[in-house]
Amino acid sequence: MRNVLIVLSGPSGVGKGTIAKLLVERNEDISLSISCTTRAPRIGETDGKEYFFITKEQFKDKISKDGFLEYSEHFENFYGTPKDFVLDSLKTHNVLLEIDVNGGLDVKKAYPDAVLIMLLPPSIEEIRARLIKRSTESIDKINLRMQRIEYELNKKDLYDYAVVNDNLEVAVSDIENIINQEKNKTSK
Ligand code: ADP
Ligand code: 5GP
Repeated sequence: MRNVLIVLSGPSGVGKGTIAKLLVERNEDISLSISCTTRAPRIGETDGKEYFFITKEQFKDKISKDGFLEYSEHFENFYGTPKDFVLDSLKTHNVLLEIDVNGGLDVKKAYPDAVLIMLLPPSIEEIRARLIKRSTESIDKINLRMQRIEYELNKKDLYDYAVVNDNLEVAVSDIENIINQEKNKTSK
């Protein structure tokens, strides 16, 4: 059996964070990757937990040393998946990456054995309802995130699997089944 690199993507509010947390809590063979970012830590965030917080110079240095499986810029800060960290974790665990659709497709280019799972909402309106319920963003920001949904969902066919997050327990179990199935496949 191999350990699998799993990429979980999908529109903001679809439930990625909720599902990633449950997968890691319930399966000791799954670990969550930690990305590098140049943004400042928010209150309550710790270096090495939510992210590795590094400077722009350190980030550029890491790019020049081919240290990322993928990276991109969001809101004037850089975010990237550290290659060594992920490859080391894969020696002992299945590794879960929670990144956006373009990041996921870049990971697949760098690491073709990665398994890409797109999380789908039961409906577009349900996403809005979940974002409003989560209440971490203003209505303006929620509207901005809603505009990106169609763009992300249109890339669904480039992903290996699509899982609908309607009933949370069913979605978690669908993903566990995909991982178990993929673990038994041989590498590409
Ligand atoms: P994302 O990480 O994709 O932005 P979150 O995991 O933060 O999304 O989920 C957004 C909101 O939706 C949260 O308030 C979460 O509790 C809720 N949520 C997640 N999955 C479900 C579900 N299957 N049914 C109802 N609410 C859900
Ligand atoms: P935040 O600053 O809110 O934690 O994250 C901002 C954005 O960066 C989110 O859309 C998040 O998915 C994305 N992000 C976080 N880590 C990575 C990463 O390693 N690679 C890429 N491409 N995006 C990331």
